[in-house]
Amino acid sequence: MKILVINCGSSSLKYQVIDMDDESVIAKGLCERIGIEGSELTHKPTGKANYVVQEPMPDHTTAIKLVMDALVDPEHGVMKSTDEISAIGHRVVHGGTYYSSSVLVDEQVKKVIKDCYDLAPLHNPANLTGIEACEAAMPGKPNVVVWDTAFGMSMEPKAYLYAIPYEYYEKYGLRRYGFHGASHAFVSGEVIKMANLDPKTAKVIVCHLGNGASISASIGGKCVDTSMGLTPLEGLIMGTRSGSLDPAIVQFICNKEGKDVNEVINILNKKSGILGLSGGVSSDFRDIEAGAAEGNELCKSALEAYVLRVARYVGAYVAEMNGVDAIAFTAGVGENDKSTRKAVCEYLGYLGIQIDDEANDCRGENRVISTADSKVKVILLPTNEELYIARETKAIVEG
Ligand code: AMP
Repeated sequence: MKILVINCGSSSLKYQVIDMDDESVIAKGLCERIGIEGSELTHKPTGKANYVVQEPMPDHTTAIKLVMDALVDPEHGVMKSTDEISAIGHRVVHGGTYYSSSVLVDEQVKKVIKDCYDLAPLHNPANLTGIEACEAAMPGKPNVVVWDTAFGMSMEPKAYLYAIPYEYYEKYGLRRYGFHGASHAFVSGEVIKMANLDPKTAKVIVCHLGNGASISASIGGKCVDTSMGLTPLEGLIMGTRSGSLDPAIVQFICNKEGKDVNEVINILNKKSGILGLSGGVSSDFRDIEAGAAEGNELCKSALEAYVLRVARYVGAYVAEMNGVDAIAFTAGVGENDKSTRKAVCEYLGYLGIQIDDEANDCRGENRVISTADSKVKVILLPTNEELYIARETKAIVEG
């Protein structure tokens, strides 16, 4: 069974075709600058050279058509006909409180995606466009939605409610949702298998440290808490996002700088995080580490603040779960940066956690990086959101 996985942004479309017989990636690629001049498709068929198509893509429907053409291209393609695709799995960012698991697309699902536009104004419209483009390009094929918010739906009110007037939750669904759901679900599931934990009771913390970053705590595969909130702005310090802060800061900056709330939230999303802390050096961890190595004090303190925030959340989640069996690191920083993994774990010595420096000296592979006598297993586990979406899609279409 071949599954096409689609992840649509407002001007981009990422895709993978996965053969579910052995879960191998047959092809993947990216359409960029959709709706903007200079559109480009980069198609990467496994075992063949990359293929770049520069053609106007006024909308996502055109982009999907170009992807279909690339998949069946006599020279660069990976299949004879798109009939070979059994189903399409879509990442959709926000499902509100309506869905706590993946679902086959129908009119009701599309209505929910629209109803959640307020909660994810940039992502949900693009995600729906991607679904409709696939319906138009491949009529009759099943489309499945995998929600970024679904993993967080198992949180209890004590974890998801904000301490603000309850009527805002009732009227607007103002609560904590959490994001990166496919990644947290995938990694926590794989950690349970890899560490041979009891799938019903395992207490797992996943640190998804990418450009966007979040942490989840789960018991028996069910999320009990996660660091992102109503929007992805809450929680950890990220590449450009501030993470949690005193909300009165918004009012203070508005008054002092003559800005409105939208402008300040934009600053907290796009100009803060390690970019802001480093005095504008970069949002990329590698640049901040290089800056720190050259003696830039702001880069050094940005790294320290980043690590402290991760450790603070891990500590809080250990308390919430009254223990932890395994802690996993994933995503760009988590998978590649041994010094951040080590620095976070140095805060966790009181839990009896010890890192094996030799094992930790690696990137992007499934590996236990704690010592044999560490009280908690620490695991490096590359995330694979596309594979998770493909597995969910297969399970739904097979009933
Ligand atoms: P992601 O959002 O998961 O793609 O992660 C992207 C981020 O990972 C980049 O912005 C970098 O900050 C970080 N990253 C990637 N490679 C490395 C590396 N070798 N060392 C440190 N950070 C890295």
